[in-house]
This record gives sequence, C-alpha cells and structure tokens, in this order.
Amino acid sequence: MNKLSNSLAQADIATSLHPYTNARRHEEKGPLVISRGKGIHVYDEHGKEYIEALAGLWSVAVGFDEPRLVEAAHKQMQALPYYHSFAHKAHEPSIRLAEKLVEMTPQGLDRVFFTSSGSEANDTVVKMAWYMNNALGRPEKKKFLARIKGYHGITVASGSLTGLPYNHMDFDLPAIPVHHLTCPHHYRFGHEGESEAEFTQRLLAEAEEVILREGPETIAGFIGEPLMAAGGVMPPPAGYWKGIEALCRKHDILLIADEVINGFGRLGSSFGAVHYGFTPDIMVLSKQLTSSYMPLAAVVFSEKVYDAIADNTGRIGTFGHGFTASGHPVATAVGLENLKIIEERDLMGNATRMGARLQEGLRQYADHPLVGEVRGAGLIAGLELVADKTSKRAFDPVGKVGLAAFEIGHEEGMIIRNVGDTLALCPPLIVTEGDIDEIVARMGRILDRTQDHVS
Ligand code: PLP
Repeated sequence: MNKLSNSLAQADIATSLHPYTNARRHEEKGPLVISRGKGIHVYDEHGKEYIEALAGLWSVAVGFDEPRLVEAAHKQMQALPYYHSFAHKAHEPSIRLAEKLVEMTPQGLDRVFFTSSGSEANDTVVKMAWYMNNALGRPEKKKFLARIKGYHGITVASGSLTGLPYNHMDFDLPAIPVHHLTCPHHYRFGHEGESEAEFTQRLLAEAEEVILREGPETIAGFIGEPLMAAGGVMPPPAGYWKGIEALCRKHDILLIADEVINGFGRLGSSFGAVHYGFTPDIMVLSKQLTSSYMPLAAVVFSEKVYDAIADNTGRIGTFGHGFTASGHPVATAVGLENLKIIEERDLMGNATRMGARLQEGLRQYADHPLVGEVRGAGLIAGLELVADKTSKRAFDPVGKVGLAAFEIGHEEGMIIRNVGDTLALCPPLIVTEGDIDEIVARMGRILDRTQDHVS
C-alpha cells in the first residue's frame, strides 16, 4: 500500500472498511468523495454539485454551511473544549441543552441523559429499563417489544432492537430478549382484502397476544419509531399508536419513542409522538439535534423513571453508566445553537409547509409504471419500486433496481437513499419551494431513467 498516495479514492480503498457498504464492490468502484457543502447542496472532490435529498443521513436540518454552528463550536472550543459529567461534574452547554430539551419535548419528559449516537442512546434506554426494574424488585421484567423493519442502531443492544436482517445476519444478534412484532406497513404487511382499520386491529391484537403469552411481568418496554424511517419510510396506520399506548399503560410497559429521525419537525410536527398523538415515557433524540455537525444524542425521560433509577443509585452508590463524551461541551453548545436556529427561522413550520408540497409533488408518480406506493409525512418520503403494480410483486433480487436508481440519482445530481427498492427522500428543513420542485422534477427523471434501465 502506498501511504503517500495522492488519490483520495485510492487511499480510501487501501485503508478503510466502510459502514453499510459492500467492501468488495467498493474496492472496484471506490468512494464518492464529498469535499464541501452549501445550503442543501454538497460538492464532490471534482466540484460536481448534488442536492443532498437525504440531508446526509436524515440529519442536517439547517443545511451544510451554517456559520452560527461553526461559531458556536469555535467559541466553546476556546472556552472549554472538553469536560465530562461524571461524579457530580457539569458544564453550562449541557445544562442549558438539557433544560431546552425538557422545555421542547412533550409534558412529562423531564430528565435528560446524553450520549454521542442514537445507538448508544438506545443501549442506554435498555440498560435504564433493566436497572429500573431491578431497583423496583421485578428482575424478570426485562424483555423488549420492537417491530420488524424497525431501526434503532447497531450496537449490541440497539442492534438487537433493530428488526432488519442485515443488522443481525452473522453478527449473532439479537443478543438481548426482544420480540419483533409485525411491521405496521399496510401496503406490504396487510393481508389481501384487509382494510387499514382491520390491519391496525390485527397488529394490536398480535401485540397483546405476545404480551399475555410472554407475561406482562416479563416485558420492560415497547420501542418504535413513530414513523419508521431507515427501514423504508413507513407511516403507521391510523389508530396504531393510540392502541399501542393503551396496551403499554394497561400492562405497565415503558413506551419508548425513537425520534432519532422523526424529532425536531421532520414529520411537519415537533415530534413524531406529537404527530401521532401519543405520550411516551422515554424519547430518544439525535441527528437533527445538532444537524449532525457534532455527534450527540439524548434520552429524555419521565420523572417516574428517574426516581426509580435515582433511588437505586442512592442504595448501591452510583449509576454505573456513562460515556467519556456524555454531554460533550462542544456538541451540546452546537445543539443549543442549532435548536435556536430551528426556532428562530421557524424551520418546523417550514417543514410543515414544504412537507405538504413534497408529498403532493411526489404523489404524481403514484401512476408511474415502476412505483408501487408513494408514502411519507412532512419532509420524509419513500417511493417503493415494484416489478408489478397490480400484484405488488417485488423485484428479484430485492434492491438491485433500487441501487440502479440510487446511482442514476448521482448522475442527475441528487443524493437519495435506496432501502432495498424503496427510494427515500429526507431533505434539510431549510428547503424552499423552488428546492422542492427541483427535487420532485429530478425524482421524475430518476424514475424514468430507471424504467429505461429495467426494460
Ligand atoms: N434510531 C433511529 C430511529 C435511527 O434512524 C438511527 C440511525 O439512523 C439510530 C437510532 C442509530 O443512530 P446512530 O447511527 O447515531 O447510532
């Protein structure tokens, strides 16, 4: 290997193992090296411009060149670049951000624990629930309910909660007690002739049947993304969340809303739980929290959960959990400034307005010969490509056509993501009407060119 290689692509191929990448294919194909960003655009090392229609990884709310976030990081670096929050230590940015999150999130979520990633946050949730139930003298209450196609991260516990084959296959996951319930996506998981309302009732009956079979005294929590995102952009059927909330209350199960993508206006409402009208005991936040300029996530939870944990720390001496970077001062300072910008510029309101335009614009492709379903809410959308519209038959192998569309997207100057054969869009919250119209137009070209490629 030539360590002085002046080709970034060659150096990358020679040295890296990429997340979510076929390594052997990467050795042949090499990376798309992105060098800079501006607004909703990013530019590769050769200067080609792309609309970042997935906001990076569903995360950059304020665009790719927000000077106020750079300034916030710079100022915090100068004042206190690092400190921790172990053993009674604290610093202003993490205190202020915790305060802000308690203020912004729904009533009843009053406590915050910071991590650096959504995966760490969900591992923290699992450990908090276990710790809490041990403290409450119910050591058997440890299992989790999650959903097929749910995405909660990739660490050992969060990866177990995730319900996607690639995250389990050959990783020996799940490694914690978790039951994956049917994915609440009517188009793919509804039975022939089953109405959406009947589908919802079937899923709720299934959830209760599992709870009763396993024993409510063994189930610690139910975790779900209000709108399932990374598994293929799947909004829940009407009444689903209200029903799940009622089951959790009835059987004393913690209801955990994984808002890592949904949170901070993505669906056109402040949070996914607000959008679908339910109140979780725990909310998990990340991504748009800092616009991913800095790695940060937060577990926001109820006083009831806090009290059980706090009492136990009193008994055994400490809460033996925490990361070197929990509440990192630069990350929390950037998060605070990012949330200020979201509020000052009414980016959640913009997401509501632009989201409606995006959803309406994309609906025109429902008639496209390749498109089985157009779906989404606010500024997140998915178009599922199928081999046959009437029978909903998927392409074989799944994902090949989606990958072709993803690559055509690059040629058309738009970065999207294919989840199998579903094309996902999740643009930054700063999008304008003109941006939306351009995204919709490019999507049309991508579909037409993919159609040519298939036939
Ligand atoms: N939860 C949800 C809903 C996510 O979408 C993601 C990442 O996409 C995660 C958790 C994991 O976050 P991270 O990649 O920061 O570990």
